[in-house]
Amino acid sequence: KKIVMSGIRPTGFLHLGNYFGALRNYVRMQDEFECYFMVADLHSLTTHPDTKELKENVHRVLSENIACGLDPDKAALFCQSHVYETSELYLYLNMLAYTGELERTVTFKDKARQHPDNINAGLLTYPVLQAADIILHRASLVPVGKDQEQHLEMARNFANRFNHRYDEIFPEPHAFNYGSDLVKVPSLDGKGKMSKSENQMATVYLSDSDDLIIKKVKKALSDSGPTEPNSAKPDYIENLFLLLKLFSSEETLQKYESAYNDCSIKYGHLKEELWTDMIRFISPIREKAESIREDKAYLKEVMEKGAAKARASAQATMSLVREAMGLNYY
Ligand code: ATP
Repeated sequence: KKIVMSGIRPTGFLHLGNYFGALRNYVRMQDEFECYFMVADLHSLTTHPDTKELKENVHRVLSENIACGLDPDKAALFCQSHVYETSELYLYLNMLAYTGELERTVTFKDKARQHPDNINAGLLTYPVLQAADIILHRASLVPVGKDQEQHLEMARNFANRFNHRYDEIFPEPHAFNYGSDLVKVPSLDGKGKMSKSENQMATVYLSDSDDLIIKKVKKALSDSGPTEPNSAKPDYIENLFLLLKLFSSEETLQKYESAYNDCSIKYGHLKEELWTDMIRFISPIREKAESIREDKAYLKEVMEKGAAKARASAQATMSLVREAMGLNYY
């Protein structure tokens, strides 16, 4: 069986991007592969050093993962900081990562711009920690959204560098999405992607109330429609169609494609169908996640079971790593 690894940072509420980029794949992959899915709490410290809300957020991400269909009896669902071996491998990989390549990483440059007062070394070495998370389980498939493409390329480089310098231990990890291309769920304001910690009115969360979903979709950037038949769509309109494709039927999508092409489209109508279908999808997940979140004993059991499984896999890899590096002195 191939090994799968991925994670989500506990930096806030999960949103449609997390679902379509990551979670939707997790739920399908758990029946086919050996899966490790984590709440990436160490990664969240790079940009969210205040830990007051961390516990709440960890519980939230776990609950939302389970509410979306992730089954802790099938996949290991755990907290990154519970697997101490991650930190050891991260240290070794840091010696194989060059500062130049880390400084060129797009997410580093973005986050450094967003948090100019806290450009810490952890932020710079984020891709190294991520590579450690993945190869610690010798995973080859990594279900992620499009924003993670460059990080996966770096994880491959670090794994290959280790293999060449020491011994062939790690398979090459690759970003994965059922279907083919990696997904990017766009933000409703036409700027960038939906995201947990930025742009909250332009991101639809799995915890949003029906009213809030309606409010956000109503506010989504649009215009008065095309004036020339069969014209190209501006990016922000392309985004609305992309969302329609994710939530609504093929028939609905085709109806609005034709209306766009003959210039009769009314974005008010499109949006109403979009929010109706979004609400139908989100509201059961929201309710389920709320009830799971209240069951702290169950969440503890999930975390303990997940950590035990992840640590067993991590310990097996780390014995190979120490052996390959010559760190065995007895
Ligand atoms: P933050 O705003 O704190 O950086 P985020 O929303 O970008 O958070 P992450 O925890 O960094 O989320 O990513 C979790 C997973 O969700 C990753 O696999 C990532 O690729 C995916 N993901 C995040 N946003 C989107 C999006 N808009 N479209 C598709 N996939 C996404």
